[in-house]
Amino acid sequence: MRMIITAGPTREPIDPVRFISNRSTGRMGFALAERAVARGHAVTLVSGPVTLSTPAGVTRVDVESAREMLAAVESALDTCDALVMCAAVADFRPAQVSAVKLKKRELSPSLLLEPNPDILTSVLPRKGPRLFIGFAAETGDPKLEARRKLEEKGLDLIVANDVSQPDAGFAVDTNRVTLIPRNGEPQSWPLLSKTEVADRIVAWMENFEAGRAST
Ligand code: C5P
Repeated sequence: MRMIITAGPTREPIDPVRFISNRSTGRMGFALAERAVARGHAVTLVSGPVTLSTPAGVTRVDVESAREMLAAVESALDTCDALVMCAAVADFRPAQVSAVKLKKRELSPSLLLEPNPDILTSVLPRKGPRLFIGFAAETGDPKLEARRKLEEKGLDLIVANDVSQPDAGFAVDTNRVTLIPRNGEPQSWPLLSKTEVADRIVAWMENFEAGRAST
C-alpha cells in the first residue's frame, strides 16, 4: 500500500515567536511510519513540529500549521491508497497573525480564535476506495465520542484512546487503544508499546485490503 501518515501537533502562530499547540510528540505516527515501511509499504509522513528522527525509507514532509498539513495531505492524496490521520491537529488558530513580535502591552488578555479546517472532512469528497483511518484522543470513555467521529468523518476505522491515563496517549511509549471499525465489532487491545500498536494497526490495514480484494 501507499500510505500518507500524519503525525505530531500543529502549531498555530500568534506572531513570529508565539503560537498555540498541544502535547502531541508524534511518537504514535512515527511508529506507524516505521512499522509500515518495515512491512513493505510506501510511506509519506506529514509531520508537525516534533523532535523525532525520520525512520529509514520514509518520505517526510514537514509542516507547521493545520492549513499547511491540509495542503500536504491534499497534494499526496491522488497517489495514496490509505490516509492515517494520527496528527493532533489544532482545532483553532489565532484569527490574526502579526508579522512582527508583539510587545507585551500590545497583547490582549483574550485571544480571538477561528476554526481550522478539518483535514479528514475536507478530503472526504476525494476518498474513493482509499482507506481512511482516524485517531481519537479522549478523556473519559473514548468509545462514545470516537464512534461519533467515525460517522461524522466518514472513516473506515477509528483508533480511540483515553489520554487521561498516565500510561497511554501523549508523550509516553505505551498506548492502550480500542479499534472501532465502520463494519465490524470494536476490539480493545491491552497496554502495548506504541511500536506494537503500530504494527498491529498496519496488520489490520493489510487484512482490510486483503478482505476487499477477495470480495
Ligand atoms: O480532534 P479530533 O478528536 O476531532 O480528531 C479526530 C481525528 O480527526 C484525528 O484523526 C485527527 O487527526 C483528525 N482531524 C483532522 N482535522 C482537524 C482535527 C482533527 O483531520 N482539524
